Amino acid sequence: ADVFHSTPFAPPDAIFALTAGYQADPFDKKVNLGVGAYRDNNGKPFVLPVVRKAKQILANDDSLDHEYLPIGGLPAFTNATGKLIFGADSPAIKEGRVVSIQTISGTGANHYGAEFLARFYEPFKGKSQAEKVIYVSNPTWANHKAIFSSCGLTPVDYPYYDPATIGLALPKFLDFLRTAPAQSVFLLHACAHNPTGVDPTREQWEEIAAIFKEKGHFAFFDCAYQGFASGDLDNDAWAVRYFVSQSIPLLVCQSYAKNAGLYGERIGALNLVASHAGEGEGGAARLRSQLLVLQRQEISNPPTFGARIVGMILNDDDMFEQWKGDIKTMAHRIIAMREKLHDLLVNTYKTPAPGPNGWDHVVKQIGMFTFTGLNPEQCKAMVERGHVYMTGNGRISMAGLNESNVEYVAECFDKAIR
Ligand code: PLP
Repeated sequence: ADVFHSTPFAPPDAIFALTAGYQADPFDKKVNLGVGAYRDNNGKPFVLPVVRKAKQILANDDSLDHEYLPIGGLPAFTNATGKLIFGADSPAIKEGRVVSIQTISGTGANHYGAEFLARFYEPFKGKSQAEKVIYVSNPTWANHKAIFSSCGLTPVDYPYYDPATIGLALPKFLDFLRTAPAQSVFLLHACAHNPTGVDPTREQWEEIAAIFKEKGHFAFFDCAYQGFASGDLDNDAWAVRYFVSQSIPLLVCQSYAKNAGLYGERIGALNLVASHAGEGEGGAARLRSQLLVLQRQEISNPPTFGARIVGMILNDDDMFEQWKGDIKTMAHRIIAMREKLHDLLVNTYKTPAPGPNGWDHVVKQIGMFTFTGLNPEQCKAMVERGHVYMTGNGRISMAGLNESNVEYVAECFDKAIR
């Protein structure tokens, strides 16, 4: 008997399909602006110098073995990762209320964060999956909804992006926060919103946080780009730290894929903030014990290599400083490409802009991606006529631009729009 007879074809992942099209294209000036991974000015993957150094130290350390890590992860890593996002002098860290577990990069952190809420978030008690709602920005990283649904939550959109201004739909977002039931769970991108590149300003975060506090909402922070957005680790952690200062209940997912260039090593963390440090009800010790159960069921023990590298960088003052420099190299190259593309569109090609504020959004948006404002037809023209590979929602990865291809890309924009 054919026991898998009715297995349907799953739709291919849009980004991977785009990359396959790019690879098969023989055109010599082709450009891949789909991929969400940093590339250097020659279009090549970038191994951070500080990571090279850490790898050499590990290679020469004969004391390292291949035993299992503790279920919660490598202590040198888990003891330091929370300090990076919350700040070493965070009240939550000092009071011992932060519980950090090593995860399979940011994806794994999102997964455990959702599972933990599905099992233990008090307002979800006795509710069906349909009633366990997590509000997610419209749009959001495509995988968020898939992960949350698979973990027992139901993702529902909240207004975030305003296509008319190619910016933040703040009034609608604030209204939604006000009218959502008390103690609702909201996914927030800590910085460098994917896919739009549109982040609230500090003043806007303060308005958002005030409603969280008033309504008792829970903030599910996904922080996949700390440092990568502005070039400054502390600056990119500002929103999270502000929410902690306002005593808003929250968790934070961390990824070291982008900011340490460790994509394939799958190193990240989930950080929960408990109401107190102790073993009693709601205490950090109980939360931690349940995170260990999740980990055990899922992967038993997390992998060592990425944890050793990041653990070393976070605990060594000189390497930490070097890392900050490496992060600046990446972030500033991307910012320079924003400026170059903006200049070409505005001054060289005088390309008609898709929004009311000219091409300002190209320089105002932050992080790996720009939401260009191109419509699906124009995106199609970019791919089919220009051989510039980008998704149909108008998103481009700024990391795919460099000194050698930015002029060609700007020319293609101009042709696709006119
Ligand atoms: N969250 C967001 C918003 C992302 O953009 C990404 C990666 O693109 C991730 C999480 C997870 O990435 P990883 O699992 O590679 O750390």
